Amino acid sequence: MTTPERIDLHTHSLCSDGTLTPSELVAAAALRAVRVLALTDHDTVDGCEEARAASTAAGSAGPLFIDGVELTCDWRGREIHVVGLDIDPRHEALQAQLTSVRQLRETRLVAMGQRLDAAGLPGSALVDQILAESVSATRMHLARALVRSGQAKNTEDAFERWLRRGRPGYAPAQWPELAATVECIIRAGGLAVLAHAQRYQLSAGGLRELTARFKDCGGAGIEVSIAGISPGDSDRLASLARRYGLAGSIASDFHEPGIPWRPVGRFDKLPDGIEPIHEELLRRHR
Ligand code: AMP
Ligand code: MN
Ligand code: MN
Ligand code: MN
Repeated sequence: MTTPERIDLHTHSLCSDGTLTPSELVAAAALRAVRVLALTDHDTVDGCEEARAASTAAGSAGPLFIDGVELTCDWRGREIHVVGLDIDPRHEALQAQLTSVRQLRETRLVAMGQRLDAAGLPGSALVDQILAESVSATRMHLARALVRSGQAKNTEDAFERWLRRGRPGYAPAQWPELAATVECIIRAGGLAVLAHAQRYQLSAGGLRELTARFKDCGGAGIEVSIAGISPGDSDRLASLARRYGLAGSIASDFHEPGIPWRPVGRFDKLPDGIEPIHEELLRRHR
């Protein structure tokens, strides 16, 4: 029996809050017969060069590698993630946006450290160490640090107790607007994909408004095949793709090995009537 082919257009490496190096990620993808792989670290493209080289070195056993990024932005006061696929990682305006968002990330994490200090935790000490070690510092880094220092059972628990909106360690940030973020991806030659829309805690109407706005801004796709989502959410995302004429993306949001429901690579399958965005990527790279 041959191994079925897989696709993955949303993954993380050590350059943001993943735990594998870009080369290790590519090796893991090759083992799972991933045919098209995008590295989409939070607000950095630093891992793309290494991942591309590793994919090339793997030859026909390796995936077609796509330069990608997951950009943090704002829509009506909510934190929205937009994946940029097949961007030029050296594009100047994109680089400028990434630098400024990473600065916002650092400022926010410092504020979160101070809030944790006020709650009696060694927040600032943990944050200082994270900032010294990370290209793109995220709340996930802080969650892992809180687990290591015994303040939470696991990262879910760290978010639930300390880090999610409304918890004592949370601090907001003023991210760039959705429209400017989509435009930045398009200018860098990429396709903009609305990431994990089921997670934004929007009503059905709110989700339609977000998706309509995203499409108006030039959005090309929406994640439809997502690791670990409910059948209801899956149907809602498929309906949004059809209704707004967006292509569908296949996305694990892989961060680390050992999470059984979120391995790298998902079967190459989307609901009827949805154009797979990886077909466009394959056309571009034929
Ligand atoms: P940030 O972009 O700095 O806000 O960090 C967000 C990252 O933390 C996400 O990409 C996820 O990897 C992780 N994350 C966010 N919310 C949660 C949560 N409730 N439970 C576990 N991980 C989370
Ligand atoms: Mn993450
Ligand atoms: Mn995300
Ligand atoms: Mn992600």
